[in-house]
Amino acid sequence: SFILEKKFDNEIAFTSKYPDFILPEKDTVSFIFDDFSEKEKTLVALVDDSTGQKITYGNLISNIDSFAERLSCFDKWEVVGVYSPNNVEYPIAVYGILRAGLTVTTINPEYRLNELIYQLKDSNAKFLIVHRSLVCIALEAFIKLNISEKNIIVFGKKKCQKLKYFSEYIKCKPSANINKRRTFSVKELYNRPAFLCYSSGTTGLPKGVKTSHLVETMKYEIFLPLFFKNMISNLIMENTVEKSDCRPGDMFIGIIPFYHLGGLGEVLPIAFMNRISVAVTENYDFNSFLKALSKWKCTTAHIVPPIALLLAKSPETKNHDLTHLRLIVTGGAPLGAETSQAVKEKLGIPIKQGKKTKFNKKFFVKRSIMVAYGMTELSPISLITVSTNIVEGSVGVLVPNQIAKILSPEGQSLGFNQEGELWLKGTNVMIGYLNNDVATKNTIKNGWLRTGDIAKVDEDGNFYIVDRIKEIIKYLALQIAPSELEDILLTHPKVIDAAVIPIKDEKAGEVPLAFVVLKRGVTAIEGEIKEFVSERVADYKCLRGGVKFVTSIPKSPSGKILRRQLREFYNCK
Ligand code: AMP
Repeated sequence: SFILEKKFDNEIAFTSKYPDFILPEKDTVSFIFDDFSEKEKTLVALVDDSTGQKITYGNLISNIDSFAERLSCFDKWEVVGVYSPNNVEYPIAVYGILRAGLTVTTINPEYRLNELIYQLKDSNAKFLIVHRSLVCIALEAFIKLNISEKNIIVFGKKKCQKLKYFSEYIKCKPSANINKRRTFSVKELYNRPAFLCYSSGTTGLPKGVKTSHLVETMKYEIFLPLFFKNMISNLIMENTVEKSDCRPGDMFIGIIPFYHLGGLGEVLPIAFMNRISVAVTENYDFNSFLKALSKWKCTTAHIVPPIALLLAKSPETKNHDLTHLRLIVTGGAPLGAETSQAVKEKLGIPIKQGKKTKFNKKFFVKRSIMVAYGMTELSPISLITVSTNIVEGSVGVLVPNQIAKILSPEGQSLGFNQEGELWLKGTNVMIGYLNNDVATKNTIKNGWLRTGDIAKVDEDGNFYIVDRIKEIIKYLALQIAPSELEDILLTHPKVIDAAVIPIKDEKAGEVPLAFVVLKRGVTAIEGEIKEFVSERVADYKCLRGGVKFVTSIPKSPSGKILRRQLREFYNCK
């Protein structure tokens, strides 16, 4: 069985079938990179899809050390931002920052000026590593925040005399005396954030999610309420399941954004821990993605469900050689059973696992679509399907060191096959939200993290996500916080009240729809409201679901928007 049902604090809880593990007392970078053999260092770690540049593990590790050494003059735990699309220098920057004892906040490269300023200010990041295409916006933000432009480092080789470039920071070999690395006390590793990725959680504006390096393992016991949190824990959790699907010579595609923990906490580290190469694509468009899969003979693709849908539906898929693609891992949003089935048919993935078909005889390996479920707040993976035992529609089984409970709206813990809100507990649960104790207390109770997702679990331990009750909207699996759009709408001179909800969209999963109350006596058209918002937010947050003009927004006596009522109202129309 994949699950044990246990009584814990008089509640029903479900535990993982995998045994608990003991964690080494190391920082994330040492944990991933310190035991590479000389032979392993000659393997290719990263390939730049656009230029073909290859970085071996030896170069990756020495560049990380060089960069960390150059940053060693920074105060410990200073926050450094990375504002860039995926590129081969991204992991060097992130791991260099961590090895130097600093905290990294990764910023969505689609963010516009005000969104960038919000994250820099909120995270207190005074240094920024930026992609060349985003230098102007970064400079503008730094001027507005009154921070010296000297604190900006641009990825790539020197192009402009006035700016600092990343290549200058990694050109010197790290000193032989590796002791120059920052040392960390164990307490720091438990309690200080290594990563500050942004998520709006179950409600409100995006918040800095504090993810530490390590967990206090020696004192760790699954049924004790005292938990310290970490990244390494999640790497072991994920890898326990995923390593069996990794083979020497595999190639991952690095298309999941590295600013998200899906890229930073799963694709990159899982590849590195298993000595696998990653073909890094800078910008996403479907045709370039297909070309990269075929060009680099990718064996594994971590993707979001809307890309899986394109794989299934687009006539382009058949024009590319995807015979090497053995494994697809989707996550970040629900993968419909129909989509999963359609991808299997398109790629010739045998429906009965393990059977030899005319499509896979070349490789004699099973091809499968795995699903992973997680949250930024969970560092990020909690549930994952096992490739040898995929159950259609399920998001998988609990990873090790993870326990779950399912609560009814009245707070009663439920048993097998009953739907309720999913709560998770384990060493991967974030430390909390940055500078936001109220949000932290509302999200983590007695070590349990509320997910805001409605789930059920069967007797074999397979979990199913059936609905989402939290506010976030998932457009192409990217988070959109309704509160953020509502705050912007409220600054429109004609608007007196507003609420934003998700509506279903076949291609994108969900799109935001705004309900708007206009001030008395004024008129407005949908286009002007949409434009007002689109001028102020990243493209993916635009009001693609449209704008509905209403006379009032339903609210609870305490002033909370009754979103469910709005959803029902919209669905009835
Ligand atoms: P994020 O913090 O951006 O990773 O968003 C986390 C949320 O995405 C979860 O709470 C779910 O609502 C949703 N999500 C992530 N993975 C899945 C999945 N495999 N199936 C359904 N929803 C998912």
